Amino acid sequence: MQEIKVVTRFAPSPTGFMHVGGIRTALYAWLWAKKNNGTFILRIEDTDKKREVAGSIKHIIESLNWLGINWDEGPNIGGSHASYLQSERLDLYKKYAQILIDKGLAYPDPYTEEEVGIFRDQAELAKKPFLYREHRPETFNVWDDMKPLRFKTPEIKSYKWNDLVYGDLSAGPEALDDFILIKSDGYPTYNFAHIVDDIEMGVTHVMRGQEFISSTPKFLSIYEALGIKPPFYATLPPIMGADGKKKLGKRDGAKDVLEYRNEGYLPEAMINFLALLGWNPGDEREIFTVDELIKVFNISRIGHSGAQMNLEKLDWINKEHIKKLSNEELKENIFKYIPNNELKDLINIKNQLLEIISKRISKWGDVKEMIEKGELDFFYKEPKFSKEKLIYKNVSLEIISNNLKQAINALESLKEKDFIVENIKNVLMQIANNLDSRGELLHPVRYALSGLDKSPDPFIIAEILGKNETLSRLQKVI
Ligand code: GLU
Repeated sequence: MQEIKVVTRFAPSPTGFMHVGGIRTALYAWLWAKKNNGTFILRIEDTDKKREVAGSIKHIIESLNWLGINWDEGPNIGGSHASYLQSERLDLYKKYAQILIDKGLAYPDPYTEEEVGIFRDQAELAKKPFLYREHRPETFNVWDDMKPLRFKTPEIKSYKWNDLVYGDLSAGPEALDDFILIKSDGYPTYNFAHIVDDIEMGVTHVMRGQEFISSTPKFLSIYEALGIKPPFYATLPPIMGADGKKKLGKRDGAKDVLEYRNEGYLPEAMINFLALLGWNPGDEREIFTVDELIKVFNISRIGHSGAQMNLEKLDWINKEHIKKLSNEELKENIFKYIPNNELKDLINIKNQLLEIISKRISKWGDVKEMIEKGELDFFYKEPKFSKEKLIYKNVSLEIISNNLKQAINALESLKEKDFIVENIKNVLMQIANNLDSRGELLHPVRYALSGLDKSPDPFIIAEILGKNETLSRLQKVI
C-alpha cells in the first residue's frame, strides 16, 4: 500500500477560552502528525461573526504555546496554504460554491425569511420536522451573493462510513437537507468551509468530538458532489466529570486551560494527563514524556467510552513530573510563587529546601499557599510556642525538658561542619531509642524547631537552620 503523508489539523472557532476538551483534540491531532512525521495545521474557523469573542485567537495561540503544541502551518508562521483564518479565504469558498452551482448542485434561496418561517410553522403544526428540501424551487435563480446559497442535496439516503475510533457508523437520511453553504453575509457555514479547507490543505485525518457524527452525512454528500474522497475520521470520546456519568462541568475542571498554567502545573504533566484522557498505551504505564507519547500514541488505542476527568490524577501526574526536575528547574519554578526575599535568599544558600518544598506540593501554586499558611516561616523566623502543643501524649513537661537537654548536649558535641542530616539523626536517634517512645524526644524537637506538629523531617530542619539556631530554639523551649 502506498504510504500517505499524514496531515492533521486543529480547527478551533474563536468563541471563547480553550478548555480541556478542545486542547485534547489539538493534542491528539498533533501527536498523530508528529508520530507519522506528518504536518500539523492550526486553522482558525472564524466565519460565525456573531459568536466570535474578541481576544480568542490570541488566547488559543497562547494556550497551545504553553503546552508546546506547535504547528507546521498556521497563524503567525504562515505556510503554503495561507491564510489560516477562514475569514480571509472567502474567495476560495466562492470558487468551490461555483463548482457546485455549475453542476446544478447549489442554488440561491428564493424565499424571504418570513416565507421560510411559514414553512417552519406548517411543519410544526403537522408535527413533522422542518425540511427545507421539501420546498426546493423547481428552477434556480442566478446567485447574486445577496441570498444564502444552498446545497441541492443530490440524494436523500443513509450513509455508512468507517470511523477509526468507533468503527462502522451510519446516519440516516433525516440528517440531509438543503443546508446553507454560504450565508447572506458572504461567510460560508462550518459545514461547507471546513470541507473546502480540509481538501485544499490536504488533511488526511480529521479528529473531533462526537457532536459531528450526526452531520457526517452532510459532509459526505458534499465530498460526493465534488467527486473527492473524504479524509479518515477519528471521533474522540466525550470527557466526563469526575463521577464518570455527567459531562464535564466547571467543578471537574472544565475551565480555561491557561488557568492550569497559572495554578502552576507543568506543561509536560498537563500533556501527559490530557493524553490519557481518552487514550491508553495498552499497558500499565501512566507517566510519559512528550517524546515518549509521540512514539507510543496510536489512534487504535483511543477509547470509546467517556474519559473521566480526575483532578487528583492530574496532581499525581504533576508530582511525578516534578520529581524529574533538576534543582535549577525547581528553583526557577518555585521562585515565581515566592513573594518574599527572605525565603528566596535562604533557598539560595540551602538547596535542600528545594527538595523539602517540592516533596510537599503537587503544583507550584501550592508553594504560595504554604507560605500564606505560614508553613515555611519557621525556616527564617523564630516560631511562636505554646506549652500545650509541646506536650506529647501524657508525658510530663519535666521529662520532655530533660529529653531536650540531653539532645542539646549531644548536638553540641557535633562540629559545625558535621552538622548535617545523617549525623544529627544519628545523635538524636541514640537518645530517642532509649526512651519509652521515640516521640518523647522527636515531637518536642520538631515542635521547638518549627512550631508545628506536622513538618518536614526535623533532622533536615536542623541542618538547614544550622547548629547555632537549632540549639538556640531547643534552649528557648526548655
Ligand atoms: N470549528 C469547529 C469547532 O470548533 C471545528 C470542528 C472540526 O474539527 O471540524 O468545533
